[in-house]
Amino acid sequence: MINLKTPISQLTRVGKATANQLEKIGLKTIQDLIYHYPFRYDDYSKIFTIAKLKTQKSGTIKAKINLIANHRLVKKRMIITEAIVSDESDSIKIIWFNQGYLTKVLKSGQKIYLAGKVNYDDYYGIQMVNPSYEIPSRPGLIHTGRLVPIYSTTARLSQKQIRFLIRQTLILIQQTEDWLPRMIRAEHNLIGLSYALEQIHFPQNQDWLTKSSRRLKFDELLLIQLKNQLVRQKIKNRRAPQIKFKLKQTQNFVKSLPFKLTQAQKKSSWEIIKNLEKKYPMNRLLEGDVGSGKTVVAVIAILNTLLNHYQTAYMAPTEILSEQHFKTISKLLENFNFKIGLLTSGNSKINTKAKIKKAELLKKISTGDIQLIIGTHALIQEKIKFKNLGLAIVDEQHRFGIKQRAKLIQKSISTEQKNYSPHFLSLAATPIPRSVALTLYGDLDLSIIDEMPPGRKKVITKIIRPAKIKNTYQFVIKEIKKGRQAFIICPLIDPSDKLGVKSVKEEYKKLKEQIFPDFKIGLLHGRLKTKEKEKIMKDFAQNKIKILISTTVVEVGIDIPNASIMIIEGAERFGLAQLYQLRGRIGRSQDQSYCFLFLESEGEKTKKRLQALKTAQNGFELAEKDLELRGPGEIFGHKQSGFMTDLKIAKLSDLEIISLTQKTAQQIFNQSPNLEKYPSIKKKINQLSLTTHLE
Ligand code: ADP
Ligand code: MG
Repeated sequence: MINLKTPISQLTRVGKATANQLEKIGLKTIQDLIYHYPFRYDDYSKIFTIAKLKTQKSGTIKAKINLIANHRLVKKRMIITEAIVSDESDSIKIIWFNQGYLTKVLKSGQKIYLAGKVNYDDYYGIQMVNPSYEIPSRPGLIHTGRLVPIYSTTARLSQKQIRFLIRQTLILIQQTEDWLPRMIRAEHNLIGLSYALEQIHFPQNQDWLTKSSRRLKFDELLLIQLKNQLVRQKIKNRRAPQIKFKLKQTQNFVKSLPFKLTQAQKKSSWEIIKNLEKKYPMNRLLEGDVGSGKTVVAVIAILNTLLNHYQTAYMAPTEILSEQHFKTISKLLENFNFKIGLLTSGNSKINTKAKIKKAELLKKISTGDIQLIIGTHALIQEKIKFKNLGLAIVDEQHRFGIKQRAKLIQKSISTEQKNYSPHFLSLAATPIPRSVALTLYGDLDLSIIDEMPPGRKKVITKIIRPAKIKNTYQFVIKEIKKGRQAFIICPLIDPSDKLGVKSVKEEYKKLKEQIFPDFKIGLLHGRLKTKEKEKIMKDFAQNKIKILISTTVVEVGIDIPNASIMIIEGAERFGLAQLYQLRGRIGRSQDQSYCFLFLESEGEKTKKRLQALKTAQNGFELAEKDLELRGPGEIFGHKQSGFMTDLKIAKLSDLEIISLTQKTAQQIFNQSPNLEKYPSIKKKINQLSLTTHLE
């Protein structure tokens, strides 16, 4: 007896080679097959007579083979199979390329179904090229004469093979138990699960396809929402230090800033302060465009935590960024005499100027002498012990995996107090539409900074064709002579050159010798020693270096207001979100900033994609565009793919179902917090591995 866990290799006609191919696309068990949904359908549902087909663009016919034979095209090393088929209305010529085996399968006199496109050729007349064929059989048609499912696959695994395999699972599909209670199904007009699964693969018609896809989307999204609720519940059951709001000192801090907080910064700060006062841990995402001023909001949270005599850990994705945060935050908190440490793999420092060895720094963290520790992954890799971590912050959180974030929290959970967690704050510049954030990060509370500090000019973005590059360099020279500075970003050209050292060095040489001989140019890439990087960034920040040539190591967070020009070479090699992040390095002062996107080629599609960068008013709009053009995986980066693989059919643009499932999940937990009233839902959730932000 086959069941859901049975390996596919036990189905009919699956040899070792096929099993290997199936594994390549992640299909090992029957269950995997069932949940391998088609990504589109070819509509061959209309069965025409041949005479009628000749007036159509595509369709299915049922015909008799009159003649079938192979020819070899020696020049093109190609085998062509030609057939003439007919029915009572007419006859038509069929051509297949490189499928010579067909003459063994199909014989003249045989009746077959053929589905495909109709070609009109001046010389050969009307013919069908490479149609699918199907020999009539009892269980009904799966390759022709219907909405034909098309699956993602490998080059060596045909659509026919996949369809054939999935048809063998239909018996099991029909026995699938429905985990959604009848009440919920009735309320939201959802069809039964087994029927939905059957129809998603082999739909009767468009109407049933729509119904089944709605049902399966609902399932996926509801499961995510249920998980989110579950995590929220778990968090409420944990204990965290209550951080009392220090009004006076916070006011003094805000007054000491060289600028006024924006409304959005105030609102977010307040949400965080309120959350820190709770007995259970905060689990919050602070979202805001690049340059919207998230750091200072985080510092307000840090300030209150330290004043309550708890420690804070602040993790950033790169050394450069960690160092910058170490400097800015030390400066911002100057008046409070806190001890602040920096820990990266190559560096350990303390703000009281004294040089410090790593071992000593670690000791000072464990005794609580150091109250705020800023650093890279080193914070989770090193043998750090905190005395009493009250707040963990992760900057540019999309650059970290779920596991890495979790590790930072777990670092601090002492063995005596298993139920204790620090408060947790994620900072993200990847703007995600609110509805999407509520799904993806539904286990997190959300604060949004949707307003830029005043006085910023919009960055002028230009797409530069190869012919215009010279003029652009001239313009850049003029701007630098006026006192400005420029970034030049190079893409990874040679894939073996992972850190981009080679590409950026070549570019450096060319620009230094030929284009900008009069200016001091710095070079930044991933293989430089920390000390060297630090020196270059420092020289750039102090305006000693005028032009910084770099790989994407400058991608996140760097803040150098006088740098108002950015050239991005090979811009088409970057995703929109990444370009947006890069461009965020400029436009940080009163001066007009310019971003030049150099193209290597002139594809229309590329231009259209990059155009979005010119027109989008803010990051949120761009995120929606990226979602539309490249799919969600691209926005959120691979790090988030753990989440995205939960979505096989639902899209983040399925707004109606997203909000429906969100409400449903809340109702379920309100009625029955431990899901006793919903045994089938409980069972389903228990079957899933609960990977969440917190575990
Ligand atoms: P991000 O949100 O990208 O992390 P930062 O926190 O680095 O942005 O802030 C970008 C720049 O804006 C910094 O130089 C910061 O000092 C400045 N800034 C932050 N808030 C304000 C404000 N309300 N008014 C003016 N400048 C601000
Ligand atoms: Mg930042």
